[in-house]
Order: sequence, then C-alpha cells, then structure tokens
Amino acid sequence: MIYLDYQATTPVAHEVAKAMQPWIEERFANPHSPSRWGREAEAAIEVARGQVEQAIGLKGGSVAFTGSATEALNWALKGTVENAPQGRDRIITVATEHAAVLDTCEWLAGQGVDLTLLPVRSDGRLDLDNLERELDERVLLVAVMMVNNEIGVTQPVTEIARMVHECGALMLCDAVQALGRMEICKGPDLVAVSAHKIHGPKGIGALWMRDGKEPAPFIHGGGQERGLRSGTLAPALCVGFGAAAKLADERKTRDYDHVEKLWTAAVRALGPGWTINGSTSHRYHGNLNIRREGVDAARLIADLRDIAFSLGSACASGSGRPSHVLRALGLDHREARSSIRLGFGRYTKQNELVEACRRLAAAAVAQEKLDA
Ligand code: PLP
Repeated sequence: MIYLDYQATTPVAHEVAKAMQPWIEERFANPHSPSRWGREAEAAIEVARGQVEQAIGLKGGSVAFTGSATEALNWALKGTVENAPQGRDRIITVATEHAAVLDTCEWLAGQGVDLTLLPVRSDGRLDLDNLERELDERVLLVAVMMVNNEIGVTQPVTEIARMVHECGALMLCDAVQALGRMEICKGPDLVAVSAHKIHGPKGIGALWMRDGKEPAPFIHGGGQERGLRSGTLAPALCVGFGAAAKLADERKTRDYDHVEKLWTAAVRALGPGWTINGSTSHRYHGNLNIRREGVDAARLIADLRDIAFSLGSACASGSGRPSHVLRALGLDHREARSSIRLGFGRYTKQNELVEACRRLAAAAVAQEKLDA
C-alpha cells in the first residue's frame, strides 16, 4: 500500500513505539499514586509534557493532556464560555474549521451563545476586514485554525490574535495539522494539538493554555491535571506523545525540506488537467487537495485500492456529504465530488508518491475516456 493520507493520521515512529513499550508492558503503576513506581510514571509524564511544550514553542503557558484534540477543543470552547465575564457572550469562528470546533460551537449556540460563522475567500483564507467588522466588546472567543486539515491552507493566526486581543477577547487555535509541520504562530491563548498527527499514538491530545486563561474544568473527577482535567493519565500515551514531539522538533528542518521536495515531485507527476483547491502560497505543502473536471473521486478511490488517499477529509469520506470546506471555497457539488486529498510527509518515499500520482492521473484519464 502507498499511504497518502497523512492528514487523517500518521504512521507511529519507531522511536515512539520503543519509548512507549516499557510503559505498556512492565511499568503499569498509576502515575497519581504515591508509590515509588507511581512517582516514576509521574516523572516520565512531566518529561513528556515538557517535550510537547517545547515542540509547541509558545511562552507563558503550559499544557494539559487530554484524550484527543477533539476533547481539547470541546474543553477550550465550553470551559471558556463557562468562565465568561458578564456581557461577553459571542463566539466567532470560520466556516472551514474542523467539526470538533464547528459542532461544539453549534451546540453552544443552542445553549444561548451568539455564534458568528465567518466565510472564507475562494482561496480558503479568512478576510481580515470581515473579522474586524465583527469584533466588538461582546466577543468572548475567536476560534481560527492554523492549517486546514482538508486543503492545507494556513490562516494568519498571529495577526488574528492581535486583533482579537485588541477587543479584549481570547483566541483559540486548532493547531492539530500544524504541530511538527511548521512553527506554531505566536498569539493565541489556547492551542489544541494531537499526538497521532505527528507520528505519535492515537487517544491523546493536549491543550496549551496561556497562564491565567485556563478554561473551567470540563471533565470532573480526581482533578489529575491541576484540577482542570480529571482522569488517570496514561503514561504510555503521554510518553509516546512526548517522544513524537521531541522527534518532530529535532527533525523539523529535515521534515520540512522533504515535504517541499515531495510536493514538487507530486505536482509534476500528476501532469496537466488538475486544479489545486485553496491557496498554493499560504499552504502546508504536505497537503495536496486537487480536482479534475469530470472525475468521480469516489470511483478513483475504488479503482486504486492499494493507494490510501482521501475524498477531502476523513470525516467527510464515506458520509456522502460534500465537504463543508470545499463548499465554503465556493466549489459546486460536481467540483467537490471530483476532488481528492493526497497527504504525505516524513516517511513518504518520493518514488512511491510519483508512482501513485502517475497512476492517479492515468486512472482519471481512463475515466474520461469511458465517460466520453
Ligand atoms: N482538528 C483538526 C484540524 C484535525 O485534523 C483533527 C483530526 O482529524 C482534529 C482536530 C481532531 O483530532 P483528534 O483526532 O485528536 O480528536
């Protein structure tokens, strides 16, 4: 199989699996228990926390582990609403956000929050004048992601954070697709990340919180994460996240250069006839979301079973619903249906990617001939 679905998840790094192994098999103690073994597990978790914080690279805050980035985003949104000062009851977000943000915001709207969903331009970027017009003294929180999971388009998060702070609101950034792939933008007060997108294990995410801006607790119980998030932490998962973060930090230049080469090779191998969805300049180049007139993307996936790629987003795939991100860009139903997402990264071999792109192009041409 040629794996080209790096936005859905990434292969676990060998170094990560190795670091996790003892915490799965032998070192099973509860990290919150006072025994020597418990203390050792707690110390390993603290090392991992430092590694994740280092990879995020922001100052003036700290990380709490969660069960996923979805949980981190739910917590950030709901917990900030719970702590809202009198009179601040508005949340602003963007039409192309991940479902973890959009669905949580919709739920909050059902609870009485005043929700504004901003559109994007046809290149997938937010129009900052639009945002400026919406910002007022009632805004509590603005949620804008750094790198879009479907189209790879980046948003000017630092500039947005500055505008948001000027109106006295907080900024939440979903940096799930950015961590380990590019430097995290400075400015946000809350940042959600996930281990399995950076060659770590599934089932663990984190919320970076600026000191003093922590959301109210969302999961109640033993208060293990500084009284803010309850539940026994899994040392193996934390250690795995830490190892993945450390590796990503150490390899960032190498990984980035590799992805740039892969992008160039993929675009060349696909040949003419394809249009890139979203901005090509404000984009993470490990995400190649493309469409081709007349192609049925679902049929392409069925034709090329040994190449793992996606219809746009793992969540939208198979649901039959056209992608909300592609629709927000202004693509019609046919254009969205002819779009595929190729995702590649650290362990993708250039020759494999080139082979996959050539076969994709040939399969698309074959479809055209069949339908002619
Ligand atoms: N945000 C973005 C941009 C994502 O791509 C994903 C995962 O697909 C998530 C949030 C949710 O992450 P998790 O799988 O850790 O819940």
